[in-house]
Amino acid sequence: MNRFIIYFFILSFFGGYTIKSQDVKSARKTIEILCSPEFHGRGYVMQGDSIAAMYLLKQLKKYKLKSFGNTYVQDYAFPVNTFPEKTSVVLNNTDTLIPGYDYLIPASSGTISGIFPVIEMNANLLDHPEKLNKITNRSIAQSFILIDTLGMKNKGFKDAYQDIIRYNLLGAKGIIQIEYKNLMYVPAPFDQGFPMVKISRQILPDSIYSININVKNKFIPEYHTRNLIAYIPGQIDSFLVFSAHYDHLGEMGEGVYFPGANDNGSGVAMVLALAKHFAKLRKKPKYSIAFMLFSGEEMGLLGSSYYTEHPLFPLSKIKFLVNLDVIGSGEKGIKVVNGTVYKAQFDTLLAINKKKRYLPSVNIRGPAANSDHYPFYEKGVPSFFIYTLGDYSEYHNIFDKADAVPLTEFEDLFRLLLDFVHSF
Ligand SMILES: [Zn+2]
Repeated sequence: MNRFIIYFFILSFFGGYTIKSQDVKSARKTIEILCSPEFHGRGYVMQGDSIAAMYLLKQLKKYKLKSFGNTYVQDYAFPVNTFPEKTSVVLNNTDTLIPGYDYLIPASSGTISGIFPVIEMNANLLDHPEKLNKITNRSIAQSFILIDTLGMKNKGFKDAYQDIIRYNLLGAKGIIQIEYKNLMYVPAPFDQGFPMVKISRQILPDSIYSININVKNKFIPEYHTRNLIAYIPGQIDSFLVFSAHYDHLGEMGEGVYFPGANDNGSGVAMVLALAKHFAKLRKKPKYSIAFMLFSGEEMGLLGSSYYTEHPLFPLSKIKFLVNLDVIGSGEKGIKVVNGTVYKAQFDTLLAINKKKRYLPSVNIRGPAANSDHYPFYEKGVPSFFIYTLGDYSEYHNIFDKADAVPLTEFEDLFRLLLDFVHSF
């Protein structure tokens, strides 16, 4: 029997997660807490990010980690557009859509309330632009427009139609955007000045003639948030750093929140597990080890960018940084961003993994500006960004929940990272 068959045999025999060690158990608990409704998606409605920060602060204190100066907290601010109040969308007076499942309000949307006619532009119309001329500017100004490019023959115009939607070039009352794949929320730092709703193509009725929509945005020019930084002093005054972002997308209207279990409850749970592990050691580690939990990642790496502009100790003292983001699966191994740049360290990871047989594979990737390692990398800090590969696909939606994320290779990755620390 190969070891996977044995593994599944044991797993089904004992059932569920009972054979996993304490580390995975407490990681799951951390993720459950971070993803609970009380944390409001760790974003910018109901102070979700602050609630998460308070909880994390408590953990850092509990582990008795050291702070740079007299606090773990680094404050900063950025602009953000939010939807604190309930949103609603009804099509054709009868089809009540469910927020998060059937529709999303794109994060830069403005405010609107009322019933409006819908001008539907489908393949029939889009392939014959001369027909479009018959629609008057006046009727467009009073209506929501919907452009459905599905089945369109004249592909050359597709991009132009995308721009009409994105920038409301026709000056419509509002925009209905069609999502052909999975609904995905991305936060925005501005109010675009007109309302927009993104509806899943799957639930679109054959024809739409009206929309009853209520959306109220609240633009916050200076939203105050914080990074958390702690460390364990080592024998030498040079640092290994583990980082993860704890923010997520927050709420889209009261009660509709994005849990962010994989993104990035998983990475935060790993950083806390590592902090707890190193804090318990009697002997000082060789290198000092810093733990950084950033906010503002989903807004565009804002927390880590702020930190690298205002570091609490010289960036040149960072021997190596490992950023962890989206590490909740792993049955297909891990990807190591910057592996091609820091080839020696990548080879070390590879060698450890080969010897100890932790993960199914350790895969190399070049630089990418896709998580919080990047502002460090740009400033010359040797760094990796590690994420897991697997079948789990919930991303930036309401389904990325604590009980859904598998944590398949969490424990193996934990051990790989411990061994990696010892390799320095
Ligand atoms: Zn993330």
